[in-house]
Amino acid sequence: MRFFKIVTLFFLMVVIVNINAQDNQAQIWNNHKCAVALTYDDGLNVHLDKVIPVLDSAGFKGTFYIPGNAVPFDLRLDEWRTAAANGHELGNHTLFHPCAGKSKGREWVQPDYDLDNYTITQIVDEIRMENVLLKAVDGKSERTFAYTCGDMSVGDSLFTGLIYNDFIAARSVESRMEKLETIDLFNIGSYMINEQSGKELITLVQEAEAKGALLVFLFHGVGGEHHLNVALEEHNKLIDYLKTNEKDIWVAPLVEISEFIINNREIPNNK
Ligand SMILES: [Zn+2]
Repeated sequence: MRFFKIVTLFFLMVVIVNINAQDNQAQIWNNHKCAVALTYDDGLNVHLDKVIPVLDSAGFKGTFYIPGNAVPFDLRLDEWRTAAANGHELGNHTLFHPCAGKSKGREWVQPDYDLDNYTITQIVDEIRMENVLLKAVDGKSERTFAYTCGDMSVGDSLFTGLIYNDFIAARSVESRMEKLETIDLFNIGSYMINEQSGKELITLVQEAEAKGALLVFLFHGVGGEHHLNVALEEHNKLIDYLKTNEKDIWVAPLVEISEFIINNREIPNNK
């Protein structure tokens, strides 16, 4: 009888340890099940006019990847500065948004800003100067980078390794969500949004919750201003879902999530 008591006690302990482990696993993202970064590219007016008010009223902060030559950046500098002071991240998206012109569907790329006509030194210098420009606006030395058009190389030469010391992390355009331990900080996947419904956006979040993963949304136009666009109403359905489930979902700028990754995993950085 005594033997059975000991065996029962042992199994009970195993169950308790397992439940605790699962709990820790479930709360891995700053005491949430998953993490969501809302990122918005190209420094559009709609980001200031439509997105930031919605995020602020929900208490969420986003990441805005702004090319230095974006006209709404020049014309509305004070508003971007205020957004940064309120906790939004101004992310580096180069000065002139160069992209590799020879890729399919890139007919719009001007020869002067064709990444394939750049040298490695030129793109790295341009990225560093954009950091100076953004620092002059928000006073911050730490931010993330977003590869323009997802391009990470000039011709065959990757430039990612040359910006490791300039950023905490960088976002790519590869559609994937990953767990904390396996994220490549200089190739963080993201989901490019174009005309998806609110329901589809929410389904992605639910997948991240189930996987315990980081999900990065990549928006351009929200309610217009870009050919890659999502209806404001559909975008806002996502924000409502995130707000309703904020106990389980950690929404933060990508710079903050990247810092958390570095400080909370066994291999801090996989540079
Ligand atoms: Zn862009």
